[in-house]
Amino acid sequence: MDHDQLKDLLPLEALGTLDGEEARAMAAHLAEGCDECEAELRAFREALAAMAISAAGAGPSDQIWRRLESRLPAGAGAASPSMQDRPAERTRDRAARIGVSRTWRVAAVAAAAAAIVLFVMTGNYANQISAIRADDSARIAALGRQARELAAELDDRNRDLAVLRGQIAVSGQLTQAVLAPDARMIRLAPLAPAPSAAGLVAVTPSQNHAVLQVAGLPTPPPGKEYELWWIGAKSGPVKAALFAPTAQGDATVASTLPPAGEQLLASAITLEPAGGVDKPTGAMYLKGAP
Ligand SMILES: [Zn+2]
Repeated sequence: MDHDQLKDLLPLEALGTLDGEEARAMAAHLAEGCDECEAELRAFREALAAMAISAAGAGPSDQIWRRLESRLPAGAGAASPSMQDRPAERTRDRAARIGVSRTWRVAAVAAAAAAIVLFVMTGNYANQISAIRADDSARIAALGRQARELAAELDDRNRDLAVLRGQIAVSGQLTQAVLAPDARMIRLAPLAPAPSAAGLVAVTPSQNHAVLQVAGLPTPPPGKEYELWWIGAKSGPVKAALFAPTAQGDATVASTLPPAGEQLLASAITLEPAGGVDKPTGAMYLKGAP
């Protein structure tokens, strides 16, 4: 038997159903080292092994074979009734029948093996694709979470930056107010509630600036704020600014100017309800006269 004939028998070799002369010829051919037959035989065996794994209960190859054989066309290899009437042709007929049957078996096994390979590969690809998809969507979700966290962090930083910018701007105003030729300074002295506090108000009408700087004020309790007052000879206390100090007790605050034409008697800081009041109601923390 030559290479082509033996190649056709490889599916049967994979199933272990070759015998006699065919089995011996196959063994000899493979022993000679035919790479093509070797590779094809391996592919058939792997496909059968895969089917044995994927189909529960289908382990040994003879079981697989029975399944495949049951799918062979019922009439495959059967001779026509008329032939059986002629004994002279019976022997030749029988040989032909075996040949036809063998051809059918080979074709059916090859087709089944191809279908199995396709089935196993398709299953693997489907699994891989869905694994990749699951992996990707998990990664996308993680990136989304990270992006939201970064955005929140950026918001925090921007708020901090805005506060710092405001402080720098007010500090600049304080410097300008203090350095201006018409600057009027009011030193604020501490009172009983905060003996170590200190404050300074700089008023420069020429630059339309009034700036307060304080240190050592306690953090106001919830719902409370500090309020700065101008105390005039005619108008009495007039609301000037509302503020909350930093955790360190400092604050630099831009304020309204004292009422125009008013004789300023003093400036003071009291603790008031958040949002401020029109006339002082709470304890006085700092007070000073021009
Ligand atoms: Zn070969």
